[in-house]
Amino acid sequence: MKIPTGTRVADTPVSNIEDNFVRVQQTLANAVSCAGVGLHSGQPVTLTLKPAPPNTGIVFVNRNGKDGASLAASIEHLVPTELCTAISGNGFQVKTIEHVLAALAGLDIDNVYVEIDAGEAPVMDGSAAHFVRLIRSAGITPQNRRQPYLKITRPLEVVNGDRLVRIEPSTTTKITYSIHYNHPLIQTQTYVYEHSAHAFEREIADARTFGFLQEVEALWARGLGQGGNLDNTIVLSQDGILNESGLRFANEFVRHKILDLIGDFSLLGVPFIGHLIADRSGHAIHTRLVQQILSHPDCWVLLDGDETVAASKPRSAKTAPRPTSLVALQAS
Ligand SMILES: [Zn+2]
Repeated sequence: MKIPTGTRVADTPVSNIEDNFVRVQQTLANAVSCAGVGLHSGQPVTLTLKPAPPNTGIVFVNRNGKDGASLAASIEHLVPTELCTAISGNGFQVKTIEHVLAALAGLDIDNVYVEIDAGEAPVMDGSAAHFVRLIRSAGITPQNRRQPYLKITRPLEVVNGDRLVRIEPSTTTKITYSIHYNHPLIQTQTYVYEHSAHAFEREIADARTFGFLQEVEALWARGLGQGGNLDNTIVLSQDGILNESGLRFANEFVRHKILDLIGDFSLLGVPFIGHLIADRSGHAIHTRLVQQILSHPDCWVLLDGDETVAASKPRSAKTAPRPTSLVALQAS
């Protein structure tokens, strides 16, 4: 595989760490669809996940009209937004992609086309649970290419006032997230997540998005959050929540922040090995750390599956995994 300039390849071809992360790429066995509304637009939308060949990555396809433009879910297409993660390019924009991206990254799906007929992904129940069920019903199928991993070798961080997100070297993919809100149901919540598809499904996928009543009302006044309601958002009142069904976990709030972080970090273009530590963080600084990582190739190595397992095999640009973010970095 063609590795970006300045990228160090791991010195020891096969270590215990790398062994654990050597796996083949995965896609879906079948196409699956769901329909819902956008959280902010309130617009009806149909989203279809379709199998994609090896080295495709996650690619959104515009099915609004007939142009069929495609756009990689990659950090270079990120557009600044306040309340969600959005990408734009090739003549279309798609917002609130973090929960479907989290479901794909959480289940280790590397290649998929995400067809969408509106400018915002459906909110479903405000978590990644529906997308996970959709992916499970489609089936996950292995592909004949190894999946590269980006392994952090030196720490990097983004600090903004009292908000922080940091990544450190680790032998696993791990996230430690802390949030602090002056609310009796939250106060301080810290959660440590060790990535596996099963752990994602069990611990993270069901956690719903949340907002404070006064903020939700302010959003509605600005014409945002039009698709938001108690079926897809936990709404916090002064001392409780408005949702009669209650919480799915006592610490559902911090678990949802981890869900968002997993979705945002998938814009890196390859899965990572490292320990992410976040405190009072949010979409904007999650994605700034992704940008930092890509602009500091001295702080990571790319573990190329083909390299680690079959080092003698000749590299071919045609067959090599080409994570779009890394390709863009190389071109810049
Ligand atoms: Zn979210």
